[in-house]
Amino acid sequence: MSNIEAKEDEKWESMRLEFESHSYNEGFARVVVAAFMARMDPTVEEVDDVKTAVSEAVTNAIIHGYQSKEGVVIIQAKRKEGVIQVSIHDDGIGIEDIKQAMEPLYSGVKGGERSGMGFSFMEAFMDEVNVESEVGKGTTVTMTKQLGHTIYE
Ligand code: ATP
Ligand code: MG
Repeated sequence: MSNIEAKEDEKWESMRLEFESHSYNEGFARVVVAAFMARMDPTVEEVDDVKTAVSEAVTNAIIHGYQSKEGVVIIQAKRKEGVIQVSIHDDGIGIEDIKQAMEPLYSGVKGGERSGMGFSFMEAFMDEVNVESEVGKGTTVTMTKQLGHTIYE
């Protein structure tokens, strides 16, 4: 890493949250990320967008990654100037075909129980969504959003 990159990196402020994969923690995760964003002076819409995206990714980690069994979900978030980046990680079953999983209306759950729109919402509400996954190891979804008007120190 060059000196300039190292300095750039110093400006990020970050947080990490680890919680049990229960659906009751999904609301908790949303609120923590919203609180973390507060210093960025976001609009109500921006907070709602990030909360929705986080909620979709956390729900996926719990119901797909861990298949509603025990596990630990880790959220890491960092902010710098007007940019927020949030990553949601599980050590669950992983995704075999990431491209297919991210297609609108695709769901790995058969029977029409899920609408297959989670990744589409994440992509709609965030500027960038990146998925890394390995079958049997787990999944990390990293999402970035540039806020419109933000200045903080
Ligand atoms: P919806 O989110 O609309 O309720 P869904 O969860 O099936 O439906 P997406 O969130 O778009 O739709 O996810 C698509 C598919 O990708 C899932 O059905 C699942 O097969 C797979 N998937 C998503 N996240 C994970 C994860 N963390 N671990 C394992 N598989 C995942
Ligand atoms: Mg989903």
